[in-house]
Amino acid sequence: MSKNAELQQRRVDAVARGVGNATQLFAVKAENALIWDADGRRYIDFAGGIGVMNTGHRHPKVMARIQKQLEGVVHSCFQVMPYEPYIELAEELNKRAPIAGKAKTLFVTTGAEAVENAVKIARAYTKRPGVIAFGGGYHGRTLLTLGLTGKVAPYKIGFGPFPADIFHARFPHPYHGVTVEDTLQDITNLFKYDIEPSRVAAFIIEPVIGEGGFVPTPPELMRALRALCDEHGILLIADEVQSGFARTGKLYAMEHFDVKADLITTAKSLAGGMPLSGVIGRAEVIDAPAAGGLGGTYGGNPVACAAALGVLEVIDSENILQRSTELGAQLAAFVNNLAKEPALGIGEVRHLGAMFAFELIKPGTANTPDADAAKALTAKAAELGLILLSCGVYANSIRVLVPITIEPDILQEALAILEKALRAVRG
Ligand code: PMP
Repeated sequence: MSKNAELQQRRVDAVARGVGNATQLFAVKAENALIWDADGRRYIDFAGGIGVMNTGHRHPKVMARIQKQLEGVVHSCFQVMPYEPYIELAEELNKRAPIAGKAKTLFVTTGAEAVENAVKIARAYTKRPGVIAFGGGYHGRTLLTLGLTGKVAPYKIGFGPFPADIFHARFPHPYHGVTVEDTLQDITNLFKYDIEPSRVAAFIIEPVIGEGGFVPTPPELMRALRALCDEHGILLIADEVQSGFARTGKLYAMEHFDVKADLITTAKSLAGGMPLSGVIGRAEVIDAPAAGGLGGTYGGNPVACAAALGVLEVIDSENILQRSTELGAQLAAFVNNLAKEPALGIGEVRHLGAMFAFELIKPGTANTPDADAAKALTAKAAELGLILLSCGVYANSIRVLVPITIEPDILQEALAILEKALRAVRG
């Protein structure tokens, strides 16, 4: 029996069923955009641990920072004996954040925890309960963030009730018939039927919706949300857990918009694989909770903060933002070229920088989602040596979260596999 098969048997017996697996390939080693399984097979990693590896697996600069920190303090708890890497990282993020005026930062551990804390901060500052999120949005698996998440299957099934005073408006996606006007009408309806604006603490939106299909928020919607916020004293939270840290060609996707959020959540590629997340926000807002109101045993772990400082060093010294923009253009050119063949059933191709996805549709239709083809494509790609992820409210989008640091020859190899897998699926 192969080592992968043996591990899969043990996994089924020992690990909760509710944790899904995209593959039954067990990772043992990884470097930049490559990852090897337990049977010694090499794969190109277009998943990046779900968007965590923007600067590549085990980047030497990140590893060096981690090694150095391991020789100092691994854990002391910031609330007991604070340490410099947490402060230095906060200073760096504050300097770079697209936030109006002075910014301050809080570190926690997961994306969901960052979102939870952003909502707590917004409630403490506004002294209001309500939060408006968007259909198809994804914010995490804790009960508050599941409440905010706008997709029932598979995330919410069996886990309710969710916290009160959370509402959803549709996220615009003209390709599937939802316009910005529809979204704004939904918000008008919420204010009319469900909650008065003076009881709303925040809107939370992904500048590029992630799990929901890599659809960028239309600039006019972001502007309209900012205007509603300013009119009613509501805060704007940008959930940049997936869109942040160089994925879109900017450090934060909010930099593509001409309005600013009050609070930004960050995680995933922030620390190159170490568990770390943060909330960055207007100092006045983030300081609303009293001392003791925020934090956690592991929040802002020193090794994770050191890793994140390494990630920033890589982003600065290796021109990662520009490379992200170029990578996105390359991916789009390649897939747009394939899309000229109707038999391949490629629908909308969309990206902001290297946050890239394309839809698979039933060949011969205008936009009928083909989730089966997406499933078949990710399976075939893995068989041929490429780890691919799907996403989207219709589960028919193929998303690319490959390290931005991928070597050009490896990228070419990956694109050839993608094409071969797609032709096999449609053949
Ligand atoms: N927000 C967004 C936009 C995400 O994409 C995710 C994770 N996919 C989360 C929050 C939750 O992050 P985590 O899994 O680290 O809790």
